[in-house]
Amino acid sequence: MDAIATKHVFAFEEGDGKDKKLLGGKGANLCEMTQIGLNVPPGFVISTAACLEYLDSAERQLPDGVMDEIRTQMQALEAKTGKGFGNPDEPLLVSVRSGSAMSMPGMMDTILNLGLNSETLQGEIRHSGDPRFGYDAYRRFIQLFGKVALGVPDELFDAEFAAVKQNAEVKEDLGLSASDLEEICGRFLKVVEEHTGKPFPEDPYVQLEIAVKAVFNSWMGKRAVDYRKQFNITQDMANGTAVNVQTMVFGNRGDDSATGVAFTRNPGTGENKLFGEYLVNAQGEDVVAGIRTPNSIDRLAAEMPQMAEELAELRAKLETHYKEIQDFEFTIERGRLFCLQTRNGKMNAQAMVRTSVEMVREGLITKEQALLRIQPELLEQMLFPRLDPSHRADPVAQGLPASPGAAYGIAVFDADRAEQMGKDLGQKVILVREETKPEDIHGFFASQGILTARGGKTSHAAVVARSMGKPCVAGAEGIAVDVARREAYVGDTSFREGDVITIDGTTGKVYLGEIPTVEPDFTNELNVLLGWADGVAKLKVMANSDTPDEARKALKYGAVGIGLARTERMFNDVERLPIVIEMIVADSPEQRQAALDKLLPLQRKDFRELFEVMSPRPVTIRLLDPPIHEFLPDEHQLERDLSELHQLAATTRGMAVLAGSMGLIHASDHARHDVDVMRRMVDPALVEEAIAKKQTMLRKVRALYETNPMLGHRGVRLGITFPEIYQMQIRAILEAAADCSKMGIEVHPQIKVPQVCTVQELLKVKVFVDTIHEEIKQRYGHPVSFKFGTMIEVVRACMRAESLAEEAEFFSFGTNDLTQAAFSFSREDAENKFLPLYNNSGILQDNPFEVLDVKGVGKLMQLAVEWGKSVRPDIHVGICGEHGGHPASIAFCQLAGLDYVSCSGPRVPVARLAAAHAALKDAA
Ligand code: PEP
Ligand code: MG
Repeated sequence: MDAIATKHVFAFEEGDGKDKKLLGGKGANLCEMTQIGLNVPPGFVISTAACLEYLDSAERQLPDGVMDEIRTQMQALEAKTGKGFGNPDEPLLVSVRSGSAMSMPGMMDTILNLGLNSETLQGEIRHSGDPRFGYDAYRRFIQLFGKVALGVPDELFDAEFAAVKQNAEVKEDLGLSASDLEEICGRFLKVVEEHTGKPFPEDPYVQLEIAVKAVFNSWMGKRAVDYRKQFNITQDMANGTAVNVQTMVFGNRGDDSATGVAFTRNPGTGENKLFGEYLVNAQGEDVVAGIRTPNSIDRLAAEMPQMAEELAELRAKLETHYKEIQDFEFTIERGRLFCLQTRNGKMNAQAMVRTSVEMVREGLITKEQALLRIQPELLEQMLFPRLDPSHRADPVAQGLPASPGAAYGIAVFDADRAEQMGKDLGQKVILVREETKPEDIHGFFASQGILTARGGKTSHAAVVARSMGKPCVAGAEGIAVDVARREAYVGDTSFREGDVITIDGTTGKVYLGEIPTVEPDFTNELNVLLGWADGVAKLKVMANSDTPDEARKALKYGAVGIGLARTERMFNDVERLPIVIEMIVADSPEQRQAALDKLLPLQRKDFRELFEVMSPRPVTIRLLDPPIHEFLPDEHQLERDLSELHQLAATTRGMAVLAGSMGLIHASDHARHDVDVMRRMVDPALVEEAIAKKQTMLRKVRALYETNPMLGHRGVRLGITFPEIYQMQIRAILEAAADCSKMGIEVHPQIKVPQVCTVQELLKVKVFVDTIHEEIKQRYGHPVSFKFGTMIEVVRACMRAESLAEEAEFFSFGTNDLTQAAFSFSREDAENKFLPLYNNSGILQDNPFEVLDVKGVGKLMQLAVEWGKSVRPDIHVGICGEHGGHPASIAFCQLAGLDYVSCSGPRVPVARLAAAHAALKDAA
């Protein structure tokens, strides 16, 4: 231990507002806010370093000296406020809040009104002359402290509270009298004593120490740990929580007091207008917990005009200083406005994009800052569906539009059921709650959307759903939820668990049954923003698209070409499959050619359409790849069919014998006629023919059987053993290109060979290409311009990149197969067998099929790029595995010197922004 003890506690005036890692986001901000002159109630921060030391200590003891530092700071607070901590005449009360480097809404626990005890309570009452206020503050403190610091279940308090309310025959909490609240305090103190076996602590410093420890402990609580895991918050990003101790100010001191939460701009739409809610004569937790439905901030101007003006000033100060949308809490205590905390506002994608573009136009931030403030993954939200506008369904309830987007699913009434039905059984669910609490977080993850009967647009449900980009309707007060019966009542009707409902978080409407949804359009702002992204990005973004429809969508998403068209997907069509099967089971090259002759015009048409849609952008077509048995019927099904056909053959033979025996039988004409009809109905020759066909098929299937098909007869291996197939495809590509050129359509086809491991394979296919090209050149009278390249998806291809680059004009990394090959993990099986365990136990940090394994697969890629470029410096290099749409993997691709990434259409916007991030971070 150092001789000079480390400073662990910082007054708001002295803490470094930039040091979020040490002071937590909230604490650092409180310091910064104080130091820029906002009216912040005075307080201090206990550092995250103290938290880590505390959690590390064997007996969970606060580090040496921390309690002394706290006492010194409390004395300073006493001096600033003229009140005394534990002083019955004029008691100083404080709040104790958590706050780590990363904002985790609702994850950590807060204690209010600390410092109250039986004596200071009386002092407070004497001082304010308001017993009701005093008892109300005390009962809140006992419950919060009891729950958070002492682990007393909330329900025990709720039950006592409800009992007193019932006895007093009041509906609203505001209807409770001072003596009702006094009774509640008494009951609450008893609850604590019964549950903990000890009386409620009276000494304010004891209270404070317990509270600080409780906040520290909550860093390792299940909710916080789950949240960090879900959002991949590493120790590097946030390590430990700070504790903020702050003088209490009260929004519940009468009608000239209020409390509220607000965003400097609308977090649902991005509109440049103060957005928020407030409650007169209430405490902050009432707004956040959604216990009373608050007023829109728009009403404040009429109710408290002076305060509305000050709030507008506060908003402008916050944005000018932070250059980011702020989500802040305020309290008005007897006509004085205090800013309690502020943090960067969590917004949905639409709002992030709009505010980015508008803040650049307002000169508040630069284009680079506008791009960097949006996480690329977030853009996927903008592709969320909305309700089909042509639907005619009437809503059964109306709530607040708390998080935009529409979703349907079966109703479930608690978070555990949501997890069970949604995550474990894979059903679409809507979590329906009276109101949500932080402990419901796992239910959010498993749901399509959230519906609550109470609470406002800044209630827990709304904030969390928005940050997750899930639709949410909050405060649909027409709905009464009965969790025990798993049923909800709306007017005359009801819905039960398992019934499908639809919610529209954009309008706040709730419907029974499923309403179809439609894809949203790109907003103008998104186009502008992505245009800026393209301007700074070094990597180009192409799309993996197999059909003209997909290609059209990819274009809309801003793809600059097709990086991968999987031709086998074009074969999976009910009309084409029989021809493909005919091609596979053919006994001779001639028979195969006959089938291929039928496929050629179909493929030519496919390619022509792709070229037309994408013109003049490049279209990379991959020759057939999958194991051939994928197109054939199942062996066991064939065996079952054959066994049934054999039985039928015996029956038909019996029928023939019976028919032949009719002359010996004294049967009526009628019976003779029936036998004749039946004999003709099942023609033995037809059955025999069917048997022969099925037997041939079964022989083929068995002959083509492979133990490891993914490592078997696929890709270029197939193209070499059945050259006619690749020849047909090459012809279709080049003829389609020649046809397009003839029509004046500019095309840039690229032919890509899959699964290559040696240059000899490439050379073989190149001969097909050159021969067919020569023939087409003669026929059309001009050459077709195209590029010839290879997939790099087997380890040997990486090792032989120099040699492959002699023939290939481009490399396209197939990281799905390359990952499979590098790990020897089957890409079909790993993800639902051992990978979850590997990830959970930390053997592997990520799923390598999702997040590019930079250390292994990435190393192979870097070597291949380096070696390929050494032979052909202008070789074009890209990636077309799933990783091509994953932001962190994209950053690596830039580092490795790739020219482009190719990903599925809807990931294109994400990839464009990720490519811009990669370029900007590289330049920094
Ligand atoms: C790959 O292996 O990464 C690839 C794009 O090919 P496929 O997924 O079709 O095997
Ligand atoms: Mg592959």
